[in-house]
Amino acid sequence: MRLLEDILSFNTSFVAEKKYEQFETGKFPIKKMVILTCMDTRLLELLPNALNVKNGDVKIVKNAGALVSHPFGSIMRSLLVAVYQLQAKEVLVIGHHDCGMSGMKPAGIMEEMRKRGIQEEVFETLTYSGIKVNDWLHGFENVNESVAHSVDVIRNHPLMAKDIPVHGLVIDPKTGKLDLVTSGYEV
Ligand SMILES: [Zn+2]
Repeated sequence: MRLLEDILSFNTSFVAEKKYEQFETGKFPIKKMVILTCMDTRLLELLPNALNVKNGDVKIVKNAGALVSHPFGSIMRSLLVAVYQLQAKEVLVIGHHDCGMSGMKPAGIMEEMRKRGIQEEVFETLTYSGIKVNDWLHGFENVNESVAHSVDVIRNHPLMAKDIPVHGLVIDPKTGKLDLVTSGYEV
C-alpha cells in the first residue's frame, strides 16, 4: 500500500473505533500560550513532553527553523490570530540545536532543484523579477541569535499587543533541555 492509501485505511478504522474520544478538547489553549517552533521530527513528541504541554494546552505554529522570515507572512499572522482570537496570552519561540536551517547552504538546495528538473531559466526569471532565491532560502548561523531575532520581530510588530510577553528559548533535540535566550517578563 502506498503512503496515502495506508493513512486513509488506518483512518477509517480510527474513526469507526472512536479512537478520537481520548483526544477531545477545545479550540482555545488551556495554558493560554502559543509556541513557534521548528518542524524537526525529533521535536514532535519531545517538545510537548519536555514542556509539560498536553493535548489542548497550546497553539503550536511550526516551520523550518522557527523563523519569522517576514513580518507580514503567515507565521506572524498565525501568532496574531492566536493572541487576538484564541486567547493566547504569552508567546514562546523555541529554536533548537542541530537545526537543519542552521548553516544551510542555499547553493546546495538550488543544486538539488536543478537535479530534479528546475531549469536554470527559472532562477534567472526569478532574479529578474526581484526574487533572490539565494537570500530567500538562507537559514541562520547561530540559533540563539536567530531566536532573539524572531522574538524581536514579534515583540516589536506594530500589530502585536504590548502586554504579551514574548519569550525566546533553545531546546536540545536529544534531551529536551531548554535554555533561556530571552524572557518576555524582563522587557
Ligand atoms: Zn530545526
